[in-house]
Amino acid sequence: MCVISFAPNTGRLFERWGLGEELMKVCTQHTNLHIHSHMGHLLQTQVLPQKVFGSNSYNGRRGEIHAVLFEYAKRLGAEIKLGVEVTEYWENDVEKKAGVIVQGQRIEGDVVVGADGVGSKARQLVLGHVDEPKPSGYAIYRTWFDIQERGVDKDPLTSMFAKEDLFFSWIGEDKHMLAMSMKGGKEMCWLLTHKDTADIKESWSQPGKISDALTIVDDWDPRCRAIVSKASFCIDFKLVIRDPLPTWVSPGGRIVVIGDAAHPFLPSSIQGASQGVEDGVALAVALKNAGKDKIPAATRVFEHLRYDRVLKSQQMGESTRNKWHKKNEDKGDDVELPFPEWLLNFDAERHAQNTFGQIFDSLKEKGYARPNVHLLYHIDEAGA
Ligand SMILES: Cc1cc2nc3c(=O)[nH]c(=O)nc-3n(C[C@H](O)[C@H](O)[C@H](O)COP(=O)(O)OP(=O)(O)OC[C@H]3O[C@@H](n4cnc5c(N)ncnc54)[C@H](O)[C@@H]3O)c2cc1C
Repeated sequence: MCVISFAPNTGRLFERWGLGEELMKVCTQHTNLHIHSHMGHLLQTQVLPQKVFGSNSYNGRRGEIHAVLFEYAKRLGAEIKLGVEVTEYWENDVEKKAGVIVQGQRIEGDVVVGADGVGSKARQLVLGHVDEPKPSGYAIYRTWFDIQERGVDKDPLTSMFAKEDLFFSWIGEDKHMLAMSMKGGKEMCWLLTHKDTADIKESWSQPGKISDALTIVDDWDPRCRAIVSKASFCIDFKLVIRDPLPTWVSPGGRIVVIGDAAHPFLPSSIQGASQGVEDGVALAVALKNAGKDKIPAATRVFEHLRYDRVLKSQQMGESTRNKWHKKNEDKGDDVELPFPEWLLNFDAERHAQNTFGQIFDSLKEKGYARPNVHLLYHIDEAGA
């Protein structure tokens, strides 16, 4: 239902798996990001290079990218059950076993990977208590629609999006809007952050009202109102935050959380999904290297491999959000999206392969104890 961007640090992995060409068919390469103030003043045009550090980024519709990855997993022999709920995660340290309960059936595995998102149940078992995410105070209206069907090409305020793939942003105090056309000007999506006080327990994702979204952009650049009004519906997606977990691994070491279950990201990082993929790759390397009889060691090596990098990427999302929401137009503050080398010129598979042995040995000396969280960090609630 919405756009997702996989950055070159994940693009590199997709390309290694031979999926680059297939993914590119459903993806769009925007060449520039035009960044405006909310009143429509062009602040900066950021050039978005085709390749960064030798790899493409992949930006497209979530469902279409997901379908390519889903088919790839099936080709590799993964047995996938859709539409079923894990009602319980379990670990028995005496018997050294772990598993899940699905539709009343107890399933046992060598290792259980809880990639169950921001509302993760696996996380409860890992932490030993319920750790609710906090509302960020913000939510995002998001939608996607056909350009011709919705008359984007007929309106002089929006018709430029029908001619080519464009990527625009508008930033104001504590809010921003993104709009982009994809597939050669055939489809379009927009995202609009807004203040939100609703209780996130009610629902993280619910239908939004276009009329409410229009109220937010009422006195903005008239192009924003014109773009928002073209949609017939939108989703109101609550943005939640969470302080870093002290650990991602269960006491017995056989259940591990990855992706948003371990570390939810603000969308302004444009890295949440990418870091989830990196997690999966690093965990696979750790499990393969350690072998079946050393699963608890493998999951703890994985945690050490990933923890600091993920935290640094989360912090970057926060600093980008602050840069946008608190920019001083008169001072000509920089509003470009960051492309740091440490983040994008990184190969999660090689890194895991190269550092596994060293971490494995150092943890062995400590009896594979859980790590001390040495970087105390608190994500503030100033929005997303
Ligand atoms: C508006 C917005 C825009 C974003 N844009 C980007 C972007 O451009 N680039 C980027 O990298 N990231 C982006 N992100 C972040 C990104 O969407 C997440 O970081 C990413 O989806 C996390 O992936 P995940 O697999 O860990 O969790 P999820 O995508 O949340 O997947 C978890 C899955 O587990 C399933 N599940 C949960 N509980 C159970 C259960 N008990 N039993 C069975 N299944 C269960 C859920 O149904 C879901 O399918 C954005 C986020 C938002 C809100």
